[in-house]
Amino acid sequence: MARYTGPVCRLCRRDGMKLFLKGSRCDTPKCGIERRESPPGQQQFRRGKMTDYGLHLREKQKLKHYYGVLERQFRRYFQRAEHTKGNTGDVLMSLLERRLDNVVHRLGFGLSRSQARQMVNHGHVTVNGRRADVASYLVGVGDIIRVKNRAKSLDLVRGSLAERSSDVPDFLSAGEADIPEGVMGRLPQAEDVSIPIQTQLIVELCSR
Ligand code: SF4
Repeated sequence: MARYTGPVCRLCRRDGMKLFLKGSRCDTPKCGIERRESPPGQQQFRRGKMTDYGLHLREKQKLKHYYGVLERQFRRYFQRAEHTKGNTGDVLMSLLERRLDNVVHRLGFGLSRSQARQMVNHGHVTVNGRRADVASYLVGVGDIIRVKNRAKSLDLVRGSLAERSSDVPDFLSAGEADIPEGVMGRLPQAEDVSIPIQTQLIVELCSR
């Protein structure tokens, strides 16, 4: 699946907030947005009041950048959320939060979502004992996410766990066994998302 490969601090500066795309660096003074808050590009030509459409679009871009999904994939999540019972915005957030790369990151196995995604793609993770190398795999309630029992995978994950700065969210529980693992105890809710997103704006934009 295609992914953004350009400079990521630029995305934070464009969205005007920390999106935590670079792992441990995001909590240091080297953080790009802390050093330079202005949007990327030639600002003297770009500043001005944002239009209503711009506000809606910015919110959607923020969410896409945060989870590392591109437009086409995002549209698929939105369509699925629209056809699922419940509040579309909340369902959308839940779907994105259930992505395997996100779950691996939130368990602390990868310091950023992009690192977690690479770990998944390279086969360092199993779901219910089976190799799972698709980052967009939707984790379900009761699924056990475990690191592969081989030295390379374990070293990688133990390194990340030693450096991690956030706690495991309520909807997941991390195991205490020698081999790092985690279980999804319940489906994630909109409140479990760790950045402020106005989902209503996204729903309004995508429903047009
Ligand atoms: Fe964003 Fe992290 Fe770069 Fe800071 S260091 S601008 S939070 S990606």
